[in-house]
Amino acid sequence: MIPPEYWRIKKDMIDVCKICEFRYICPDCRVFITDDTDILSKPKKCNYDPITAVWN
Ligand code: SF4
Repeated sequence: MIPPEYWRIKKDMIDVCKICEFRYICPDCRVFITDDTDILSKPKKCNYDPITAVWN
């Protein structure tokens, strides 16, 4: 079961994603994240930088 603290997370709240132009079409499961101590950290498997608009 998904813990309640995850129920209301939106892309607008996630680090980096909140400024990304793809945030409203991009899926997110919160399983693989860059910082395991921060549930709002960027998805670990994303290789896009919305600041430079470059896929790495
Ligand atoms: S492309 Fe990457 S940075 Fe943009 S919303 Fe999706 S996961 Fe976040």
